Amino acid sequence: MSKGREPAGPVPDQGRPTLRADCESCFALCCVAPAFLASADFAISKDAGHPCPQLQPDFRCTIHPRLRQQGFPGCTVYDCFGAGQKVSQVTFGGQDWRSVPHTADQMFDVFPIMRQLHELLWYLTEALTRPAAHPVHGELRSTLDDIEAFRVTGAHGV
Ligand code: SF4
Repeated sequence: MSKGREPAGPVPDQGRPTLRADCESCFALCCVAPAFLASADFAISKDAGHPCPQLQPDFRCTIHPRLRQQGFPGCTVYDCFGAGQKVSQVTFGGQDWRSVPHTADQMFDVFPIMRQLHELLWYLTEALTRPAAHPVHGELRSTLDDIEAFRVTGAHGV
Protein backbone atom coordinates (compact mmCIF):
# COMPACT_ATOMS: atom_id res chain seq x y z
CA MET A 1 0.00 0.00 0.00
CA SER A 2 1.13 3.50 -0.68
CA LYS A 3 4.58 4.46 -1.90
CA GLY A 4 7.57 2.61 -0.63
CA ARG A 5 5.59 -0.36 0.57
CA GLU A 6 7.35 -3.60 -0.24
CA PRO A 7 5.12 -6.41 -1.44
CA ALA A 8 5.52 -9.12 1.16
CA GLY A 9 3.47 -11.91 -0.38
CA PRO A 10 4.91 -14.29 -2.96
CA VAL A 11 7.19 -12.04 -4.96
CA PRO A 12 7.16 -12.62 -8.72
CA ASP A 13 10.55 -13.04 -10.28
CA GLN A 14 12.33 -11.12 -13.02
CA GLY A 15 10.40 -12.82 -15.82
CA ARG A 16 7.07 -11.45 -14.71
CA PRO A 17 7.49 -7.71 -14.24
CA THR A 18 3.83 -6.86 -14.80
CA LEU A 19 2.91 -9.06 -11.85
CA ARG A 20 5.18 -7.22 -9.43
CA ALA A 21 3.74 -4.30 -7.47
CA ASP A 22 5.15 -0.93 -8.53
CA CYS A 23 3.82 1.49 -5.93
CA GLU A 24 5.51 4.46 -7.60
CA SER A 25 3.25 3.98 -10.63
CA CYS A 26 0.06 3.49 -8.61
CA PHE A 27 -2.34 6.00 -7.09
CA ALA A 28 -2.36 4.14 -3.75
CA LEU A 29 -5.44 2.19 -4.77
CA CYS A 30 -4.96 -0.37 -2.00
CA CYS A 31 -5.04 2.45 0.56
CA VAL A 32 -8.44 3.56 -0.71
CA ALA A 33 -10.41 0.87 -2.53
CA PRO A 34 -10.62 -1.89 0.13
CA ALA A 35 -12.47 -1.67 3.43
CA PHE A 36 -10.50 -2.27 6.62
CA LEU A 37 -11.82 -3.67 9.86
CA ALA A 38 -10.09 -2.71 13.08
CA SER A 39 -8.24 -5.87 14.04
CA ALA A 40 -4.77 -7.29 14.59
CA ASP A 41 -4.00 -6.19 11.00
CA PHE A 42 -5.39 -2.65 11.03
CA ALA A 43 -5.57 -0.13 13.84
CA ILE A 44 -8.72 1.43 12.39
CA SER A 45 -11.80 0.58 10.38
CA LYS A 46 -12.56 2.33 7.12
CA ASP A 47 -15.14 1.92 4.39
CA ALA A 48 -14.32 0.79 0.87
CA GLY A 49 -13.59 3.67 -1.48
CA HIS A 50 -12.49 6.02 1.29
CA PRO A 51 -8.84 7.06 1.58
CA CYS A 52 -7.01 5.84 4.66
CA PRO A 53 -6.44 8.84 6.97
CA GLN A 54 -2.71 8.13 6.84
CA LEU A 55 -2.61 8.68 3.08
CA GLN A 56 -0.99 11.95 1.98
CA PRO A 57 -2.08 14.03 -1.02
CA ASP A 58 0.94 12.72 -2.97
CA PHE A 59 -0.22 9.11 -2.43
CA ARG A 60 2.47 8.37 0.14
CA CYS A 61 1.87 6.92 3.58
CA THR A 62 2.67 9.15 6.55
CA ILE A 63 3.55 6.17 8.75
CA HIS A 64 5.25 3.94 6.20
CA PRO A 65 8.43 3.30 8.23
CA ARG A 66 6.35 2.51 11.34
CA LEU A 67 3.40 0.54 9.98
CA ARG A 68 3.78 -2.42 12.32
CA GLN A 69 4.47 -0.30 15.39
CA GLN A 70 1.42 1.84 14.56
CA GLY A 71 -0.87 -1.19 14.29
CA PHE A 72 -0.99 -1.68 10.53
CA PRO A 73 0.83 -4.99 9.86
CA GLY A 74 -1.86 -5.79 7.27
CA CYS A 75 -0.41 -3.06 5.06
CA THR A 76 3.03 -4.67 5.13
CA VAL A 77 1.88 -8.05 3.82
CA TYR A 78 -0.54 -6.94 1.12
CA ASP A 79 0.48 -7.57 -2.49
CA CYS A 80 -1.54 -6.35 -5.48
CA PHE A 81 0.53 -8.43 -7.94
CA GLY A 82 0.94 -5.37 -10.16
CA ALA A 83 -2.78 -4.64 -10.43
CA GLY A 84 -2.36 -1.16 -8.95
CA GLN A 85 -0.12 0.21 -11.67
CA LYS A 86 -2.10 -1.60 -14.34
CA VAL A 87 -5.35 0.10 -13.30
CA SER A 88 -3.64 3.46 -12.66
CA GLN A 89 -1.49 3.71 -15.76
CA VAL A 90 -3.22 1.54 -18.36
CA THR A 91 -6.92 1.20 -17.57
CA PHE A 92 -7.25 4.84 -16.52
CA GLY A 93 -4.39 6.20 -18.60
CA GLY A 94 -2.42 7.74 -15.75
CA GLN A 95 -5.27 9.93 -14.51
CA ASP A 96 -5.51 9.77 -10.75
CA TRP A 97 -8.69 9.72 -8.70
CA ARG A 98 -7.87 12.97 -6.92
CA SER A 99 -7.40 14.97 -10.13
CA VAL A 100 -10.27 13.31 -12.00
CA PRO A 101 -12.72 12.52 -9.21
CA HIS A 102 -15.56 11.42 -11.46
CA THR A 103 -13.53 8.30 -12.32
CA ALA A 104 -12.79 7.44 -8.69
CA ASP A 105 -15.67 5.05 -7.99
CA GLN A 106 -15.08 3.15 -11.21
CA MET A 107 -11.36 2.92 -10.50
CA PHE A 108 -12.01 1.59 -6.99
CA ASP A 109 -14.45 -0.98 -8.40
CA VAL A 110 -12.01 -2.18 -11.08
CA PHE A 111 -9.02 -2.50 -8.77
CA PRO A 112 -10.12 -5.56 -6.72
CA ILE A 113 -11.15 -7.37 -9.91
CA MET A 114 -7.82 -6.61 -11.56
CA ARG A 115 -6.03 -7.76 -8.43
CA GLN A 116 -7.80 -11.12 -8.57
CA LEU A 117 -6.86 -11.50 -12.24
CA HIS A 118 -3.24 -10.65 -11.51
CA GLU A 119 -3.10 -13.09 -8.62
CA LEU A 120 -4.47 -15.84 -10.87
CA LEU A 121 -1.90 -14.96 -13.53
CA TRP A 122 0.83 -15.13 -10.93
CA TYR A 123 -0.15 -18.63 -9.78
CA LEU A 124 -0.55 -19.90 -13.34
CA THR A 125 2.82 -18.46 -14.36
CA GLU A 126 4.42 -19.94 -11.28
CA ALA A 127 2.89 -23.35 -11.98
CA LEU A 128 4.37 -23.27 -15.49
CA THR A 129 7.85 -23.14 -13.93
CA ARG A 130 7.25 -26.34 -11.96
CA PRO A 131 8.38 -29.58 -13.67
CA ALA A 132 5.86 -31.56 -11.65
CA ALA A 133 3.08 -29.62 -13.37
CA HIS A 134 4.35 -30.55 -16.83
CA PRO A 135 1.38 -32.83 -17.63
CA VAL A 136 -1.01 -29.87 -17.28
CA HIS A 137 1.18 -27.18 -18.84
CA GLY A 138 -1.04 -26.99 -21.94
CA GLU A 139 -4.10 -26.39 -19.83
CA LEU A 140 -2.25 -23.85 -17.71
CA ARG A 141 -1.06 -21.92 -20.79
CA SER A 142 -4.53 -21.90 -22.29
CA THR A 143 -6.08 -20.62 -19.05
CA LEU A 144 -3.31 -18.05 -18.70
CA ASP A 145 -3.98 -16.80 -22.25
CA ASP A 146 -7.73 -16.58 -21.55
CA ILE A 147 -7.18 -14.55 -18.38
CA GLU A 148 -4.61 -12.31 -20.09
CA ALA A 149 -7.05 -11.65 -22.95
CA PHE A 150 -9.83 -10.89 -20.46
CA ARG A 151 -7.51 -8.57 -18.55
CA VAL A 152 -6.61 -6.63 -21.69
CA THR A 153 -10.19 -6.52 -22.96
CA GLY A 154 -11.44 -5.47 -19.54
CA ALA A 155 -8.84 -2.73 -19.37
CA HIS A 156 -9.96 -1.28 -22.68
CA GLY A 157 -13.61 -1.81 -21.89
CA VAL A 158 -13.57 0.66 -18.99
S1 SF4 B 1 -1.58 2.97 6.82
FE1 SF4 B 1 -3.03 3.70 5.28
S2 SF4 B 1 -1.85 5.00 3.88
FE2 SF4 B 1 -0.39 3.73 5.06
S3 SF4 B 1 -0.02 1.93 3.78
FE3 SF4 B 1 -1.67 1.40 5.19
S4 SF4 B 1 -3.58 1.89 4.07
FE4 SF4 B 1 -1.88 2.94 3.00
